[in-house]
Amino acid sequence: MAVMKFGGTSVGTAKAMQQAISIVAREKENAVPLVVLSACSGITNKLVRIADAAGRSNLDEATALAAEVKRHHVELVDELIKSDALKKDVSARIELLGGRLEMLIKGVDIVGELTERSRDMFCSFGELLSTTVFAAAMKDQGYKVEWIDVRTVMITDDNFGFARPLNDQCEENVKRIISPLLQQGTVVVTQGYIGATRDGRTTTLGRGGSDFSAALLGAWLNDNAIQIWTDVDGVMTCDPRLVPEARSIRVMTFSEAAELAYLGAKVLHPDTIAPAVQKNIPVYVLNSVHPDAKGTIITNDPERLSGMSYDGLVKSIAVKKGQCLINVRSNRMFGRHGFMLELFDIFARYSVSVEMISTSEVSVSLTVDERSFSDELIQGLKNFGEVEIEHGVATISVVGDNLRMSRGVAGRIFSALKDVNLRMISQGASEINVGFVVEEPEVVTAVNNLHREFFSGPQNRGIFEIPAGSR
Ligand code: ASP
Ligand code: MG
Repeated sequence: MAVMKFGGTSVGTAKAMQQAISIVAREKENAVPLVVLSACSGITNKLVRIADAAGRSNLDEATALAAEVKRHHVELVDELIKSDALKKDVSARIELLGGRLEMLIKGVDIVGELTERSRDMFCSFGELLSTTVFAAAMKDQGYKVEWIDVRTVMITDDNFGFARPLNDQCEENVKRIISPLLQQGTVVVTQGYIGATRDGRTTTLGRGGSDFSAALLGAWLNDNAIQIWTDVDGVMTCDPRLVPEARSIRVMTFSEAAELAYLGAKVLHPDTIAPAVQKNIPVYVLNSVHPDAKGTIITNDPERLSGMSYDGLVKSIAVKKGQCLINVRSNRMFGRHGFMLELFDIFARYSVSVEMISTSEVSVSLTVDERSFSDELIQGLKNFGEVEIEHGVATISVVGDNLRMSRGVAGRIFSALKDVNLRMISQGASEINVGFVVEEPEVVTAVNNLHREFFSGPQNRGIFEIPAGSR
């Protein structure tokens, strides 16, 4: 069995959806999949706008946007479904969902208040609609398919907007509702991102939650792989917009993926794949536009996958722009205890998270996201000593499990960066990353030099290869 999750861009248009169907059909030859879908790209954002408009009693805006949402799916049906009977059936379902959305708009308008609860209700329509069209289109092409309302399976707490599943109950539901269908050879199509409380109130797992849904369902099914289909070739060695030679990474560990996600790379959020980590289920990140490209496997024991071990040093280079470097210098700090506690209390008070940090006896340098920067924060810090601020910097982090045991890496990093003005340096305590801060205009030079140093040598050739047929 396999769980296949398709993101918004992989089901956003008729062409993309057809491509996803072919990918599912191909997988079905090996194992009958559970297909988990996001809403079509852009739809959840629209639903959020609809909810806000309804909350402000702006009925015109809300209904106009709701009509756009409906039209998008009607057009998909027109393009994808040939059989008249099926077309009629699925159109009626879309009509029904569209009608409920309109009713919800009116209800919120009458009550005059948008609650978290009703916001989740609004947001659930995207996945309900995308899966409805997808299942019908597969059926139209002769596949044995069953559409499941995941709210009968994914039972969550009532933390609307960021609900968490009640594991035991969900696992039982999966075994009772989904497993038997897969076992009899029926493809199951269901929604990511949404769930319901025990008493049937619709919830969501938070924006981008479909990956989490897929990992959870995969864990409950005790699956041997979770496939996350997106529109990029897996996880890259660096952002290809910065480094044209960037390429996709064949295999990485969960801790590398987590580190990269925190450091700004476009990777699955670590919390997302935690359910897979716990059960040691590998997660494949694949591109539905290039289904034959190899993508990236995230797993804790790459050695188990023959030929997958990686003997290069660096796995990836992550960049976070839009950072601000803050330097606090104080003689009071020298030989005193409790200073850091007081200093960080200021950050906590203004809910600012510190990204990278480096300290000496009399000064602390750290970076924060520009968006969380405020004058109040700086005023607070000035109680401690001299404060210097440098806007427009970026953090660059070199990440790899193998950095832990290696000699000479720092030397290679710094010689690659000999022409770059390093504003701060920090070796991550995790030992799998080395980070530094540069001014934004120097980012391109810095990452290209690093990429050349670590990814173009002959010693790296070929090690990213994945053996044929191992997916
Ligand atoms: N459709 C939801 C969102 O846009 C969930 C997801 O795509 O993962 O946030
Ligand atoms: Mg998404």
